[in-house]
Order: sequence, then structure tokens, then C-alpha cells
Amino acid sequence: MSIKHNLQNIKSTLPEDVTLVAVSKTKPVSDIMEAYDAGHRVFGENKIQEMVEKHEQMPDDIQWHMIGHVQRNKVKYMASFVSMIHGIDSLRLLEEVNKQAMKHDRIIDCLLQIKIASEDSKFGMTFNDAKALLTSEALSELKNIKVVGVMGMATFTNDQDQLNDEFSYLKKCYDELQSSHSNFKIISMGMSGDYQLAIDCGSTMVRVGSSIFGARNYN
Ligand SMILES: *Cc1c(COP(=O)(O)O)cnc(C)c1O
Repeated sequence: MSIKHNLQNIKSTLPEDVTLVAVSKTKPVSDIMEAYDAGHRVFGENKIQEMVEKHEQMPDDIQWHMIGHVQRNKVKYMASFVSMIHGIDSLRLLEEVNKQAMKHDRIIDCLLQIKIASEDSKFGMTFNDAKALLTSEALSELKNIKVVGVMGMATFTNDQDQLNDEFSYLKKCYDELQSSHSNFKIISMGMSGDYQLAIDCGSTMVRVGSSIFGARNYN
């Protein structure tokens, strides 16, 4: 199946209020252009350098989402154009995003990554960390970022009960934080293998790569 058909198939199953981030990491510009020509505009990358290179070669109306772990010293390379940063896991990182966004006179939308997986390798804050950050005075001084929701990565497993528990936990975190943070509107959870379940659990933004672009080749 072509990229265009994969996209159309997935979009036809998504509720209207769920945003599809097409995860194009490791894929060439020609593949991304195929999705672009089919009308898609929201793409996700997990490496800043790769996203910058693709951004330079592609149309300006693409919304680029940084979905990977972000190193503070690289924020400056994407601050002029990145549309949303999903992986915020500390106030220090948020301060750096704010500083770089200010240089470009922009306000960058950010999501707090909350650790929902049982594996040690997944980044993220605890619910209490996120709550402390959101209520901190330091945050209220950051005028060039907007925290608009949460992001989570579930455990790499086929166990539907476990996935259900992890997604439901993130939804619960979101609901509690949202009650005192009216900017909140996004729950980014769900990937190729589990986005339908994630939507059932309340996801408003799914990040789908291999189901659109095919398996990734890591050389
Ligand atoms: C790669 C990646 C995805 C997409 O994974 P697929 O299983 O290919 O859909 C989603 N989210 C993050 C953070 C990723 O790094």
C-alpha cells in the first residue's frame, strides 16, 4: 500500500477531534512529500538535526512536532520553526525553550512528558513533578512557552490490559492537571500498534509512524 492510502485509511478511523502526527523519522523527504501531497501537514521527528534538515527542504506550511528526548543545547536549532515539543521533562528544559523562543518572538506549545511505562528506558516526569512544575512561580514567568497538555509513551508490549492501564493513568493525570490549568487541551498518546486503544482511553493526539511510512530502516 502507498503512503497516501495508509494515511487515508488511518484518518478514516480517527475521530474528528483527534490529531494525527505522522512520524517521519528516518524516512526520506520524498516519502514525506508523498504524505504532504496527500494533504497532510503535521509531522513528527525525534532528532532535532534530522528535523532541521527536513524543514529546510520542505514547504513552510508543515507543522513540525519534536517528539523525541530533547537536549537543552540543541533547542536553539529548532526554536525558529518547531510547532510543538512533546518531550518536556524538566523546568530547566522549559526555561531553555522559552529563552530560544523569545529570540524569535514566538510562543512555542509544549507538552509535559509523563512516565507511564514500566520500563526504565522511557523518559518522563512523575505526576507530582508535573504538578509542581505547573504550579511553580518560575513557570508563570515564562512568556514564550505554553504548556498545552501531556505526552506519554506506553510500555512496548502487546498486553492490552497493561496498555489500557498506562493510557488510563495518563488520562487521569491530564484530568487532574487540567482542572487547574485551563490551557490544557492535548493528550499525546498512541502509536502504530496501539493508537486505537489510546483513543478509547482519551487520547487527542496520536503519533503514528510505521503504519503510514512502513517499517523503519536503522543502519
Ligand atoms: C517512533 C515514535 C513513534 C511512532 O512509532 P510507530 O510505532 O512507528 O508508529 C511515536 N512516538 C514516539 C515518541 C516515537 O519515537
